Amino acid sequence: MLQVKMPEAFKIEYLELPVPEIGDDDVLVQMKRVGVCGSDIQIYHGRHKYMKFPVVQGHEGSGVIVKAGANVGTLKAGDRVTIQPQVFCGECAPCRSGHYNVCKNLKVYGVHTNGMFAEYFPVPASKVLLIPEAMSFDEGSLVEPAAVATGAIRRCGDLSGLNIVVLGAGAIGNLVAQVAVASGARKVVITDIIQKRLDIAAECGIHACVNTRDKKLKEVILEQFGDDEADIIIDCAGVKAIFNEAVAAARCSSKIVVVANYKEPVEIELPLFQRREVDMLGIMMYLREDFERAIDLMARKVVNTSLLISDYFDIRQIDDVYPYIDNNTDTIMKVVIKISE
Ligand SMILES: [Zn+2]
Ligand SMILES: [Zn+2]
Repeated sequence: MLQVKMPEAFKIEYLELPVPEIGDDDVLVQMKRVGVCGSDIQIYHGRHKYMKFPVVQGHEGSGVIVKAGANVGTLKAGDRVTIQPQVFCGECAPCRSGHYNVCKNLKVYGVHTNGMFAEYFPVPASKVLLIPEAMSFDEGSLVEPAAVATGAIRRCGDLSGLNIVVLGAGAIGNLVAQVAVASGARKVVITDIIQKRLDIAAECGIHACVNTRDKKLKEVILEQFGDDEADIIIDCAGVKAIFNEAVAAARCSSKIVVVANYKEPVEIELPLFQRREVDMLGIMMYLREDFERAIDLMARKVVNTSLLISDYFDIRQIDDVYPYIDNNTDTIMKVVIKISE
């Protein structure tokens, strides 16, 4: 089988390997579609702080089970699936309290351990979730980013009646905003400086999509929500200057939620957090229940992912993908790799 390995930054190898053996608790998945994530780009550039080369990338995958181990209960060959790409110890304090997404020994497929850029991927059955017949493999590869969104919104608590601003209308921002709408928020506003992303967000049913190229966030918030301002500002942009605007615009008794991956420390005006009683939440991936909710929302077409896929590449063209993404950051939403038909 074909496996695509990154031995070091900027380098890609296509390996021909035997189809992997599986253990009694595993299934073998023939991969169909795997999405490319912002973190994959960081790895390609050698700027991901928490990984070591070599690595086989790919943590946003869908496929079909072709073989199930002896101890695997209900899953069987022919089942269409997506994969929750977290390996956790189950023993550390975060794991014991149910927060295994921040396990002290967390390993993520495609980042800290081999991922799904391969024709076949052996994986414990416990990491696999069924996707419905009506869901395409394209959509199946978007369950993982959608689970980031359902995880983020779960951490925000009950959204009913609240004013929400999502900063950044890339794939994750778009999905977070869609899940916020689906979760009963009074009004969801999404901001970006790239109009194409805002147009897609509008097609996905986000209540207001605002270009902030010539506007301060505070101004947008007052225009959109009036005196009530924003109850929650969710940062999916990952830009220092925008975060500082968010801090300046945060209302008394509100929340700032950090979903974006920052690569460097950000200086913040701490007194504002204290004096206004602003809560700050960090978001790191998801739990299984977030995957389940993502699948449910997508299956019921409450969350629309079809508009998010901007490009497809074949598995044999992976070395073209990263330069393509680097050169087209403004127009790309989500690139999906076709592993097999
Ligand atoms: Zn990802
Ligand atoms: Zn743990």
